[in-house]
Amino acid sequence: MDETQEHATWVDIDLGAIRNNIAALKRLTQREIFAVVKANAYGHGAVPVARAALEAGAGWLAVARAGEALELRAAGITSPILILGWTPPGQLPGMISEHVSITVWSKAQITAASQAAHAVGERARLHLIIDTGMGRLGADPDDALDLARRVAVDDHSELEGVFTHFARADEADPEPTFAQNEIFSSLVRQLTRLELRPLLVHAANSAATLRFEPTWYDAVRVGVAMYGLHPSEEVKLPETFRPALSWTSVVTQVKTLPVGRGLSYGHVYHTRGTERIGTVAVGYADGFRRMLSNNVLIDGKRCPVRGRVTMDQILVGLDPDSRIEAGEPVVLLGSQGRERISAEELGQRWGTINYEVTSGIAARVARMHYDGDSR
Ligand SMILES: *Cc1c(COP(=O)(O)O)cnc(C)c1O
Repeated sequence: MDETQEHATWVDIDLGAIRNNIAALKRLTQREIFAVVKANAYGHGAVPVARAALEAGAGWLAVARAGEALELRAAGITSPILILGWTPPGQLPGMISEHVSITVWSKAQITAASQAAHAVGERARLHLIIDTGMGRLGADPDDALDLARRVAVDDHSELEGVFTHFARADEADPEPTFAQNEIFSSLVRQLTRLELRPLLVHAANSAATLRFEPTWYDAVRVGVAMYGLHPSEEVKLPETFRPALSWTSVVTQVKTLPVGRGLSYGHVYHTRGTERIGTVAVGYADGFRRMLSNNVLIDGKRCPVRGRVTMDQILVGLDPDSRIEAGEPVVLLGSQGRERISAEELGQRWGTINYEVTSGIAARVARMHYDGDSR
């Protein structure tokens, strides 16, 4: 075992890949970029990823929650930040003081933001979200002009942006996205006519950014593509993009067991002959799902997980002639030799999507950042 080994399981994040992917998105769109670093940058580590994205040409960061914005500010990041989700009223003064931009969709929120801004002696920076068909957050398009006017006449706030979010941009059929975009663009035309159009009109997520130029407006909001993950089966990244994250653990014990031994909780697997079994230091509390169909990579080969995944550990079947010993690295996500387990593959095995795989890697898994361009 390597004496300097510090972690039982960890993820490595290539910041060179993040920069490469942001630069590709910038070249493609020539627009302002919101690097979406919510949920700890989809599990990749918010602060280092945010810095890499800004270095590569993103002008904005976007998060889901006030606490996520505060983490970035506490790390000394001074770029503009937009909270895409709901900001609890009690967080408004703090966010406004930190020059964090807030998403709003109602009169009550505009009033609350204005009052909080007045109290702290600053102007609230507001982005009005319009529900054009996602059915999640957003003002009805018919109410949007009235809301924009309210901000325009208010002394303590300014309308910095207006945006919408697409529900189906990652599907083969473009029509649902075109329909949402039509509603949005017609609203933008009305805002322009009334001289209410803000500086930043934005709509596209990663999938729309890769496919539909008419959705780019002034800025695009990219999450999954920045991480080098495919938006979906139907909407894949070009070859120039690189995945940034890999996930590794370690073999902690190896044993040879006779035929018929039950393994792990419930003994749902029994050895089928003399088998070499390795114990590995990762479990469902790390975000490694409790499924029976899991594979891992050891010594460049796929090995099956045997028996149930436990909270902190798994058991894997090793090649009977292999010389694997305790200390051997185990790749859970990423490449080893010629084999590769992608976040997309794990998503399929786990009945979910790549987004949930990386954002589900638990906080106790160490994040190690490196620069793949300067290696
Ligand atoms: C998460 C999110 C995004 C980023 O979506 P990707 O598919 O990862 O590019 C963009 N906009 C909003 C409002 C979001 O919530």
